[in-house]
Amino acid sequence: YFNNETVLYLDRRFVKANESTTDLYSQTLHYGYGAFEGIRSYETEHGTNVFKAEEHYKRLKKSCELVKIPFDYTVQELVEATYELLKKNNLKNAYIRPLVYCGQNMSLSKPTSVSVMIAAWDWGAYLGDKLLRLTVSSYCRPHPKSIHIEAKVCGHYVNSILATNEAKENGFDEALLLDSDGFLAEGPGANLFFEKDGKLFTPQLGNILPGITRSTVLELAEQLGLELHQGKFTKEALFQADSAFFCGTAAEVVGILSVDTYQFPKNWNDSLGKKLQDAYSLLVREPLKQLNLN
Ligand code: PMP
Repeated sequence: YFNNETVLYLDRRFVKANESTTDLYSQTLHYGYGAFEGIRSYETEHGTNVFKAEEHYKRLKKSCELVKIPFDYTVQELVEATYELLKKNNLKNAYIRPLVYCGQNMSLSKPTSVSVMIAAWDWGAYLGDKLLRLTVSSYCRPHPKSIHIEAKVCGHYVNSILATNEAKENGFDEALLLDSDGFLAEGPGANLFFEKDGKLFTPQLGNILPGITRSTVLELAEQLGLELHQGKFTKEALFQADSAFFCGTAAEVVGILSVDTYQFPKNWNDSLGKKLQDAYSLLVREPLKQLNLN
């Protein structure tokens, strides 16, 4: 992720990554009490573009508000800091990781201090570019009454790590998690869509992270004139679907081959997912061409 030259943004300054330290008594390290984002930048004809940068920093601010971590940064200053960070590290196509973490405090009370760190590095497609073989996880997504599921909070990712590792140990590429009522929810780090009879379906908000890629895919689907349904769906509905895909900033749009023993019958290249994958790829890399298409 870093070398001797890598620069980080930390508390409104730029510092060398290999000279930076954290406090071992940090409340975030012990209790997972922090918030983060995952953003991507793309090299476009008009220079480097941090895709939906404002939306990501707004979600970071919202995550902190929901879990009551003081956050006194503006979206604009963090967007500017991100561009500066990319320049300093000579990065164009990058993955960007902002993290809000708390200082020394071994109690469960309010944080004593809060830091904002942004790192960036080169990162290929998170889930690869092959069609995924998923398994329905034995872990469900955390109940929204236990935590703020719509916030991207560090500690929530123990659930994601457990689900991914369980899937891999069982020989699958990735997990698919249900919500605590047994309805389809999302992947450990991506949202789910599926296709049936030419229509597109995705779990409604409430038990999932409101993915920024999910919103983008919904916008693209609308532009393509597709019929869309957001709702509560059972895994049996998925086991009758024609095709399916995951989407997220790190994963982008990635097709799903199968879920447990069910293999989607439609050829990926003929699916709505592939159309949306191409539209997404064009939107992030050649935003003006995409605009001209419509
Ligand atoms: N769900 C979860 C649990 C995630 O961690 C992510 C990645 N942030 C997503 C969905 C997709 O969100 P986004 O499109 O904003 O990256």
